[in-house]
Amino acid sequence: MSISKDSVSKRVLVTGASRGIGRAVALELAGAGFPVVLNYRSNEEAARGVAAEIESAGGRAELLPFDVSDREACRATLGTDLERNGPFWGVVLNAGITADAPMASMKDEQWDRVIDTNLTSFYNVVRPLVMPMVRMRQGGRIVGMSSFSGLRGNRGQTNYAATKAGLIAACRSLAFELAKREITVNCVAPGFIATDMVQDLPDELVETIPLKRMGKPEEVGAVVGFLFGDRAGYITAQTIPIDGGLS
Ligand code: NAP
Repeated sequence: MSISKDSVSKRVLVTGASRGIGRAVALELAGAGFPVVLNYRSNEEAARGVAAEIESAGGRAELLPFDVSDREACRATLGTDLERNGPFWGVVLNAGITADAPMASMKDEQWDRVIDTNLTSFYNVVRPLVMPMVRMRQGGRIVGMSSFSGLRGNRGQTNYAATKAGLIAACRSLAFELAKREITVNCVAPGFIATDMVQDLPDELVETIPLKRMGKPEEVGAVVGFLFGDRAGYITAQTIPIDGGLS
């Protein structure tokens, strides 16, 4: 992607940026010239590795660890960061987990942890950032990391699918609230992407994907990078599947 001279001053936050899709998104946005703030929960070594990769390619990265499911931690950490460094121009709501089980055997803890991490985090992260972003009067970008499961449902994932469908609805509603401020809000909905979350897929599942392979994190990063670019300025309230034709 070409480096826009305007991106240099536009800080962006990527949640869950230490590994997998979030890492690829962070590398893509840093390559486009955005100073990237890398959030993660606990894997500091991996996050430092991402920051080092960005810096060695000439980009700018900072670490900002906090648990997106912890409202007070989000409020405190983001509040301090905003005071010190000013508003974010863009946010990628990527941090997420699975805790799969058929409904008949799902535990309270599995339901609550997935809802809190994948969906309540939307409120926890966006709420402190949105007014500073609006007051900056420079437009902006918010991208939610939804999923094929959120579009189509998936057995064993009632909790996860509910969060990913909820994220689409939350992002669409926010898109309508922020449209007059030129802040676009969209989701991407990956299918099976090769990360720690989804490692080896059984062959019969790969066979159901029209492109007959898993996706790469970089293929998700590229679409998020496009949505952050000037050329995507008229796209808002949409969800873009990145799933090899699955949906
Ligand atoms: P991953 O490899 O397991 O990485 C998850 C990332 O989220 C890590 O950076 C992790 O940080 C961070 N994280 C987890 N819980 C967190 C919390 N409470 N607070 C802050 N950060 C947290 O996952 P992935 O496959 O890249 O998935 C990234 C996103 O894409 C998720 O929202 C997932 O639902 C979505 N997605 C993935 C696929 C797929 O096939 N992989 C498909 C569709 C959608 P630590 O390193 O510190 O643990």
